[in-house]
This record gives sequence, structure tokens and C-alpha cells, in this order.
Amino acid sequence: MIPFVRAFDFAYGRRDQVSPLIQRVICENPGPFTFTGTGTYIVGRPEDGASVAVIDPGPIDDPHLQALLAAVEGRTVSHVLVTHTHRDHSPLARPFADRVGAPVLAMRPPARETHASGTLDEEEDEVFAPDTILSGGERIAGDGWTMAALATPGHASNHMAFVLEEEHALFCGDHVMGWSTTVIAPPDGNMSAYMRSLDAVIAAGFSTLWPTHGAPVTDVAPFLAAYRAHRLEREAQILTRVRAGDRTIAGIVPVLYAAVDQRLWPAASLSVLAHLIKLVDEGRLTVDEAPGLGSTYGAA
Ligand SMILES: [Zn+2]
Repeated sequence: MIPFVRAFDFAYGRRDQVSPLIQRVICENPGPFTFTGTGTYIVGRPEDGASVAVIDPGPIDDPHLQALLAAVEGRTVSHVLVTHTHRDHSPLARPFADRVGAPVLAMRPPARETHASGTLDEEEDEVFAPDTILSGGERIAGDGWTMAALATPGHASNHMAFVLEEEHALFCGDHVMGWSTTVIAPPDGNMSAYMRSLDAVIAAGFSTLWPTHGAPVTDVAPFLAAYRAHRLEREAQILTRVRAGDRTIAGIVPVLYAAVDQRLWPAASLSVLAHLIKLVDEGRLTVDEAPGLGSTYGAA
């Protein structure tokens, strides 16, 4: 069982000092993929005149824009960082950056044809254009803080996490979430990449994870161990189903997700597809064509 953390204290639009160098303002966009809403992080000292970086301004939402502008008043925004280009993370980056006169930094948006499936609410911000393209490993700094970009593809092909070195903390976007597992929806989502990214985060041994949605993860090692085990367990179940003769996603999902609301089965189907693609790539399963939602799979 993953030790999810769901309860936490917040109010929409309120600036909360959540660690010595981190403040958070939450946008009122709750939903099945955003939990209580998008949490925008402000990194830097809370004093007037200090320089700060802002991570994931969020969706286009005027009350949230006003709350962010109020939250950084008296300070200089030196960087606007974006973890990935799903619409609950990136669209407000440009309007906010223009108001504060800061550049937007992010990984290159995915090619148009690899955008996530429209069956999920996590749609792509198709007009996003960063000023600086990150590829991972870049370091930026301000008054009393240093951050490094950590490429973490998987949930999205252009997912970037940010390490706050002074607190040995990671702003992990949607790569790891304290309240839920993360959606891996092909074609832009990729389970093999996701597991490699997860292993890299585990190996780094961070003290705290700050997901864009929900509460921080503070008991990091056991949480990530359970998070990883959950994926491997699901992968093993899928492998077992195919070997038992359930050779299509339409056959696998009703068995593995029998206890889950049927409205979530389309999302579950994409998650099963993500696992199947990984298993085919690893030569552990076969497929009749390019792996897709309607393909027929077989034991290798
Ligand atoms: Zn996302």
C-alpha cells in the first residue's frame, strides 16, 4: 500500500510559508487530476527586495494571477519555471512572466502528434513557448537559493523537476504525487521513461518532495519504495492476465479494475497500454501490430 498523504491545510489564493525558502499559493481548480488544485511555488527568501523563482503558475485564472502578483510584491521574480505543459501547469506562465518581467524556462514542448489523449482532462498547452529551453542539469540561483533542473520524463515527455539544493528538496511536478499515483497516458506518457525517472529520484535521496498538487511528501524513501512497488505489481498483474489469455486491453481492464468506477476505465485502459508498451519494448510480450488500445498481445 502506498502511504498517501491527503489531508493538508490550505486556502485558495493564500500565500503560505511552507519551508524557510518555499511559499505556496493554490489555485481554485480542483478536479480528478488536480486534487485540490494547482499549487504554485515561490522559491526564495520572504523579505522585500529578495529575488525569487516561481514554479508552475498554473491554468489561466485571473484570481490566481492576482494572488501570485500579490504574493511576490516587493520581490523580484528572476525565473518562471514550468514542470511540463499540461494545461493545469503552464498556461499562466506567460501572462505572469510578462507582468513581472521574468523569462520562462522549461523543457521543449512535445511534438504535436504525441500530445496526450483527449480522453483525459490533462490536455496539452499547445501555445506554450518558453524563453529558455531546459534539457536537465542547468543550475539557476538567486538570493540564498540554488536550483538544478532534473529531467524526469514519463508522465509527460517534457517533464522537468527542480532541485532546491539548500533544502535538499525536489519540486516534482506531477512525477510523484502525495495523494495519488500519476497518470501515464501514451503516446506522450511513457512507462519505461517513468520508471527510469522514478529510480533517479529515489537514488537522489531527497528530504522532501513538493508535488504541484496536494501536500508535500516528507517520509520520502518509504513513500517512493511503495510508489515503485505499486507499478511493478500492476505490471506483473498485466503480464499474468495476458499469459492467462486476456490478450486485449478490453479484456484486461474489467478484471484488474473490477472494483473501480467504470467511468475511470478509459483512463485505466491508457495506463494498461503504458505497461503493455513497456513489456513489449522489453521483449516480455508480443503484439500483433504497433501497440495500441485495440491491439492483441501475447506471451513472448
Ligand atoms: Zn500533468
